[in-house]
Amino acid sequence: MTILVIAEHENGAVAPATLNTVAAAAKIGGDIHVLVAGQNVGGVAEATAKIAGVAKVLVADNAAYANFLPENVAPLVAELGKGYSHVLAPATSNGKNVLPRVAALLDVDQISEIISVESADTFKRPIYAGNAIATVQSSAAVKVITVRATGFDAVAAEGGSAAVEAVAAAHNAGKSAFVGEELAKSDRPELTAAKIVVSGGRGMQNGENFKHLYALADKLGAAVGASRAAVDAGFVPNDMQVGQTGKIVAPQLYIAVGISGAIQHLAGMKDSKVIVAINKDEEAPIFQVADYGLVADLFEAVPELEKLV
Ligand SMILES: Cc1cc2nc3c(=O)[nH]c(=O)nc-3n(C[C@H](O)[C@H](O)[C@H](O)COP(=O)(O)OP(=O)(O)OC[C@H]3O[C@@H](n4cnc5c(N)ncnc54)[C@H](O)[C@@H]3O)c2cc1C
Repeated sequence: MTILVIAEHENGAVAPATLNTVAAAAKIGGDIHVLVAGQNVGGVAEATAKIAGVAKVLVADNAAYANFLPENVAPLVAELGKGYSHVLAPATSNGKNVLPRVAALLDVDQISEIISVESADTFKRPIYAGNAIATVQSSAAVKVITVRATGFDAVAAEGGSAAVEAVAAAHNAGKSAFVGEELAKSDRPELTAAKIVVSGGRGMQNGENFKHLYALADKLGAAVGASRAAVDAGFVPNDMQVGQTGKIVAPQLYIAVGISGAIQHLAGMKDSKVIVAINKDEEAPIFQVADYGLVADLFEAVPELEKLV
């Protein structure tokens, strides 16, 4: 049994989600190969070869794979994937863009967002916004799987010494072209990779008041997130949204401020190790999942907390 993991990388570095996906592959068992597709990705391939547990790194370094256009990357993965028992990618925007196409090209079902590996053909995945966990068994010849990074502890980024092999195949479908991207710039940690997340909801009242959360977050070295209500009201940009239709996070510490705890919000953060809720309504559902709850006005509690950090 040999497993192919599709590496996620950005700005010449291996993205943390790759380490969680290799961890999922290790649970399945067998040899682990990692595909690094992109342009000028020699450095990424070298770093990938050091990931613990990786036996071989396949490098597809070609202009066709720059910016990870799914129309070009999917045929590459499908061609390589035929020789593997499993093809895994993190359930990131890239993974979710490429793998369904790979599954279609291989004529198999995709198994989406697994959170645990029961055996080589049986996996667990959340359904109904995480309110139920389905156990899925697949008889597909090649199992095409996206992995929810928060379900698997990352393997070590160092310690391995995999062989690196170039892949010559260049698939250029000619259907799409990369035009540009607008990236949010922030000195704070990335939301899905942060160890601490401070999130604000409608209770923050406006965008200006988020300064209280930024001040606290900066002292804690935390990322700042938000509920959809806060995003929809225009308090903060939508890349900060946590939840079913936002980002899935599972930090060591999640501090929910002025967030009621709707199921769609919980779907994005309830796997956090420790949850703290600050809400003035003692009946707020967030207190049912919180490890520590403070019934208080956030405009008093947050500045006080910030002073104590
Ligand atoms: C299909 C679908 C997908 C969705 N996806 C998401 C998603 O991804 N993420 C998400 O978050 N939501 C999502 N939602 C929306 C979700 O249902 C809720 O509407 C939303 O999470 C509510 O946000 P909130 O908790 O900030 O606001 P509210 O529910 O209005 O809660 C505000 C809270 O702030 C408290 N508060 C107010 N003032 C203060 C104060 N001064 N001090 C302390 N506490 C105070 C209140 O007591 C209240 O509990 C989705 C909904 C649908 C239908």
